[in-house]
Amino acid sequence: MNIGSHIPSKKAIEEIDYRKGNTFQIFISSPMMWKSPKPREDVDILQEYKGNIYVHAPYLLNLASPNNKVRHPSRKLLKETCKVAATFGAKGVVVHGGSVGEGGDIGKGYENWGKALKEVEDTGMRVLVENTAGGKNSIARYMDSIERLWEVIGHLNVGLCLDTCHTWAGGIPTKDAVKGFKKLVKKIDLVHFNDSKDGFESSRDRHENLGKGNIPKEDLEYVINNAKTDLIVETPNGPDAQKKDIAWIKRRLKK
Ligand SMILES: [Zn+2]
Repeated sequence: MNIGSHIPSKKAIEEIDYRKGNTFQIFISSPMMWKSPKPREDVDILQEYKGNIYVHAPYLLNLASPNNKVRHPSRKLLKETCKVAATFGAKGVVVHGGSVGEGGDIGKGYENWGKALKEVEDTGMRVLVENTAGGKNSIARYMDSIERLWEVIGHLNVGLCLDTCHTWAGGIPTKDAVKGFKKLVKKIDLVHFNDSKDGFESSRDRHENLGKGNIPKEDLEYVINNAKTDLIVETPNGPDAQKKDIAWIKRRLKK
């Protein structure tokens, strides 16, 4: 089990060392743009890094979308992201579950996820579906939908990323989320370990530093000691605040 954070991708190793983490997550292209990632100039340095490296795909991706004009570029960008992530041995590429929108056929959304995963199979990269906080027709907000998604895609090279802010704001009690995810996939691939600025089932996705938000400390402590996987904080307020968050987790680890 490693502990780290989402960091700027430029001088990644320096960034994570400063925060005293031993695993990290980066974007390899702009998170708000439909732009393919470039090959990494620091590929050797990243390959030599001892901890796990995770890549977060751009937020714009919606692999479930019924709209061709969103779904097709999403697949293309996922493929490009997986290819570059594979060059430096990333452990996985994290993608939000997405949604089929108002009135959309959610069953179709699961199938679209399956098609997208088959298209990136040859990159060898594992894709991690992250649960999301909002929306009514979301693929990965509530447990029952995540379970149904898994019936369609669970046999492929895919895992789950549990975001504690999203489970909370999305309306899955924290302990239920850990138990439910584990039941579904045996090993959770990754936890995004964030506090939440908002209330339970608020549908709002606003991360907060650990212990400063609305998620009960007891819930966060439960995740630290029961998720049994790498924890990455995606918390605000810069490097020093993230360094504190990483220390916050380490203090609560049961020996
Ligand atoms: Zn997240």
